[in-house]
Amino acid sequence: MNVFIHVDADPDNFSACKLNPNKQTGTLAGSLKWNGLLATLDYFEEFSEKLKNLGLAFRATFFLRADEQIKNLCGAYSEIFSEYYNKISQLFTVGWHPHLYRWSEGRHCWHQECRDGEWISRVLINCYDHLKSHGFPVEFSKMGWCFHNNLTMKTLSNLGIKADFSALPGAKNPGQLEDGLSFQDKFDWSRTYPRPYHPDENDYQSKGNLKILEIPLTTYRIVGLIVLFYTIKLALRSYLRLDFSYLPSYQMMAPLTLANLKKKEDLEKACELLGKNGRHYITMYLHPDDFLDANKKVIFENFIFRLISKAQENGMKISFLDAPHLYRFIPCM
Ligand SMILES: [Zn+2]
Repeated sequence: MNVFIHVDADPDNFSACKLNPNKQTGTLAGSLKWNGLLATLDYFEEFSEKLKNLGLAFRATFFLRADEQIKNLCGAYSEIFSEYYNKISQLFTVGWHPHLYRWSEGRHCWHQECRDGEWISRVLINCYDHLKSHGFPVEFSKMGWCFHNNLTMKTLSNLGIKADFSALPGAKNPGQLEDGLSFQDKFDWSRTYPRPYHPDENDYQSKGNLKILEIPLTTYRIVGLIVLFYTIKLALRSYLRLDFSYLPSYQMMAPLTLANLKKKEDLEKACELLGKNGRHYITMYLHPDDFLDANKKVIFENFIFRLISKAQENGMKISFLDAPHLYRFIPCM
């Protein structure tokens, strides 16, 4: 059984960025903090030693931010890569994590751009070219908010990204207003199957001929009243934006993230996925500032050691793969 752990390397307390002013008007430049990223690196290094004692090699991929917001707030698309790439790549691998954040002068906030195709492709292409020309040729990507549409998928494919890790099979979020102003977190993977595929250029959720390989992340079903209340809230918010495509439900597919593993039943559900027929890998992702909280380290270790023992119960061996390893492994499936 292959396990793919990856880090969406956003700044600390990322939600705090939501309403910050841009460089021209305010004070945010220099105030993005990356203590979580350094803490995660230190912790993963320690954790690698623990696993080495069990005869296991720990691998992980860090998807680093490079996008319009980083350029605006930090000075260049490649600012975070320049700062952390060498340190991370001594032990782990690095991919690209672009958030399509766009500054709204009218509302004075950062929001998720998901409609203006000309802006989206220009930012992705300029950012990729800048990274490449500064010695960071990225081959693997994970989109911010796990968002894709036909244009973003085709753009990344044309740029030469080998594999993307954004799909959340069965999951959909209509997006929501944060602090009443900033629209974010929209994505749709409701029709996507949980197996790797080359997307169709006219339907990023279906199999087609694009060169890029979409490697879906692990999702699992959650049911109950709490899900119903949550989806009612999401639906009402989307109706305010005249989007009536999202319907409340008592069940939904949730991504396997460290934040979601707080609940013991979710950990058990995640472990059950290991035994499912035909499943060749499971993924789990986290944000660096998770590890500024010592409890999250306990949750992380419980999860990994529970996976190891569950695999043993099923007569399987655990291997930790990073993005390049998983990409190489996939064609053999
Ligand atoms: Zn992110």
